[in-house]
Amino acid sequence: MSEQIRVRFAPSPTGPFHIGGARSALFNWLLARKYSNGKFVLRVEDTDRVRSSKESEENIKASLKWLGLDWDEGVDVGGEYGPYHQMERLELYKKYAQQLVDEGKAYYCYCTEEEIAAEREALMKENKMPIYQGHCRHLTADQIEKYKSEGRKPTIRFRTPENETVEFDDMVRGHMQFDSNGVGDFVIVKADGIPVYNFAVVIDDALMNITHVIRAEEHLSNTPRQVVLYDALGFTVPVFAHISLILGKDHSKMSKRHGATSVEQYKNLGYLPEALVNFLALLGWAPQDEKEIFSIDELIKAFSMDHVAKNPAVFDIDKLNWLNAQY
Ligand code: GLU
Ligand code: ZN
Repeated sequence: MSEQIRVRFAPSPTGPFHIGGARSALFNWLLARKYSNGKFVLRVEDTDRVRSSKESEENIKASLKWLGLDWDEGVDVGGEYGPYHQMERLELYKKYAQQLVDEGKAYYCYCTEEEIAAEREALMKENKMPIYQGHCRHLTADQIEKYKSEGRKPTIRFRTPENETVEFDDMVRGHMQFDSNGVGDFVIVKADGIPVYNFAVVIDDALMNITHVIRAEEHLSNTPRQVVLYDALGFTVPVFAHISLILGKDHSKMSKRHGATSVEQYKNLGYLPEALVNFLALLGWAPQDEKEIFSIDELIKAFSMDHVAKNPAVFDIDKLNWLNAQY
């Protein structure tokens, strides 16, 4: 590949650093390290003011460092790069939201949460898709005055183009297509001025020149919203890779009842970072030979997104224990 590879890990600091997050970080990091000019960016998505904490952020950074996943860019904090923080970038999101409003690609929506909830409920009762019906798409000046006088604070809602096919390429899932009518007009900036995830992530990935977005499968359904935003803003759409779920040995979604789920817990249990990295790499990625024990340099060399599986990966603690005994 001749273009520069730029990837990112964008955690929300809202709790313990889950091994699924560590695997996403690792796949991105491996791709960056595979290419001499690759860059791995760390961005803290801290817009959830209720659930975000500094403690969680520190835990994520400490866990990444312990695993050896160093990042290349960020805000200079005394000789070291701190990660980017979305809460320090609010002006940027505001600017692009305003641009969309000025171009008629987004509009102020004065509907209250209760009104939206009632509309959704009514639609679902009729077995219709619970998408916004466009009440505020064409408000008159009088209506706006009335809403303002009632003290309503508007959200900014994106006007999703109708009757279009939203397409993107996914390194794991292939070419994906969605009907834009199933996306509907969605909120990009909340009434308190804070951007929603789908909006902030697009602005950031575009401005940070991210070429490949590797993340958990749970975000696959968000991606059509992100793609319509890229198009409206005139940004280049990156290549996506949505990696499969991690299941417990009983094939249900990995959770606390399967044992330790955070990187810190494995560290405290005495596992070696090299063994955990080796193990995480094999969760979804299949080497092309029988080899199972990889040093970090061997992983960087052998790793390829071409051999990341679509089907869920199964977390096998015996395998981790075996690997840990090899180091
Ligand atoms: N902050 C999001 C999360 O932690 C990032 C998702 C993404 O990589 O786009 O789930
Ligand atoms: Zn509205």
